[in-house]
Amino acid sequence: MKDRWPAAGVPGLLNRLDRAALGSELHDRIRRLYPICRSITGNGVRETLRMLSEEINVAVEEIPTGTRVFDWAIPKEWNIKDAYIKSSDGTRVVDFNQSNLHVVNYSVPVHGTMTLAELQPHLHSIPEHPDWIPYKTSYYSEAWGFCLPHRQRESLPEDRYEVCIDSSLEAGSLTLGQCVLPGDETDEVLISCHVCHPSLTNDNLSGVSVGATLARLLATTRHRYTYRFLFIPGTIGAIAWLSLNEAAARRIKHGIVLACAGDRGPVTYKRSRRGHAPIDRAAVHVLEHSGNRYAVENFTPYGYDERQYCSPAFDLPVGVLSRTPYGRFPEYHTSADNLDFVEPQSLADTVLTNLAILDVIEGDVTYCNLNPKCEPQLGRRGLYASLGGHGGSREIEMALLWVLNLSDGRHSLLEIAEQSGLPFSSVRAAANELVHHDLLAVTVPTSSDVTDAIR
Ligand code: ZN
Repeated sequence: MKDRWPAAGVPGLLNRLDRAALGSELHDRIRRLYPICRSITGNGVRETLRMLSEEINVAVEEIPTGTRVFDWAIPKEWNIKDAYIKSSDGTRVVDFNQSNLHVVNYSVPVHGTMTLAELQPHLHSIPEHPDWIPYKTSYYSEAWGFCLPHRQRESLPEDRYEVCIDSSLEAGSLTLGQCVLPGDETDEVLISCHVCHPSLTNDNLSGVSVGATLARLLATTRHRYTYRFLFIPGTIGAIAWLSLNEAAARRIKHGIVLACAGDRGPVTYKRSRRGHAPIDRAAVHVLEHSGNRYAVENFTPYGYDERQYCSPAFDLPVGVLSRTPYGRFPEYHTSADNLDFVEPQSLADTVLTNLAILDVIEGDVTYCNLNPKCEPQLGRRGLYASLGGHGGSREIEMALLWVLNLSDGRHSLLEIAEQSGLPFSSVRAAANELVHHDLLAVTVPTSSDVTDAIR
């Protein structure tokens, strides 16, 4: 037991990562995935998972159309080859090949000619941002439409237009991607992101790319928890996964939904429904000690797939890590959420913040002071030698005293960090020293006990 917890590899990862290289990896992956026309079903999701599987071990599962998943059913599968609006002189005035956002996602097939007046009810644009193409979907009602810049829509002349959407909406399947990294324990950490948006970056390729990098990194090192990464279509994907994996869901002790993870805004953490689960406290602790601007928000039953993970029968401790949350940046769900909108530095910072939170979760152990009757003599053991020295050693010495005092089998290292105001890394370093000198021993080694004790 003595060497077990310090051996967890996340601190090592944090020490050796190069921020610039990380940023390039994250942004390059987004650039490769950007052109694919994704939706909640269809070949776009499959191609995305295939590309991810070149880097990480992704298991792909297909759930047939019509399968009941709680109150929902897996929808028909949507695929698209081409779409355009052609003027009478044969020019494509709107062309799916220029941007997949031009077609309302899940549009039923259509082919015919019509006047501008007949076409108008099927057109979507944003008057306040006349150069941006909006992103629209029609998942659960059979409709069709085109999205285009408002300026272009306003300039369309009267004409007879040829309208074509070469799509298919038929029985098929919903595709889920999972990457599971077994740890020392079977208890799990869930990292979830959605893979259903076409050419948009912050929502949601930033989350996909951050998730893929975390999976790649954690696969290279030993860790306490089993990590489960889900790359799934929003809402229906999470509902389908929970419906088909209730036993696995019960093993999830901590979780993070990744979304809007690459814009220039500060990190925002949205608490789980529980509010003060270990993952919530770890995230708040890391952000408080980060030295950067950040925001912490309470749970609301609106947003991304935390809505499903935190539904009352599951009530999983799953929070959301974002930068600027969905809907609060004007580029949200438009063509302006593009490759320039997400920046390598922000993406790298999101990965490092994530790893710092996981580092706390991995190292959050409850110890027992083996010499609880008054303070042990630290000087004799060389642990108190630098009292009055520089600030760093003073912090470690304070951490030694805090860990000794609160390690009564009831306070985990995260609680000690919270009470003392010291960073988790100092508290853990102190605990490691005390274990080394036989002054401390693990009392509550399993995470489920820790979680239950804290709840
Ligand atoms: Zn979205």
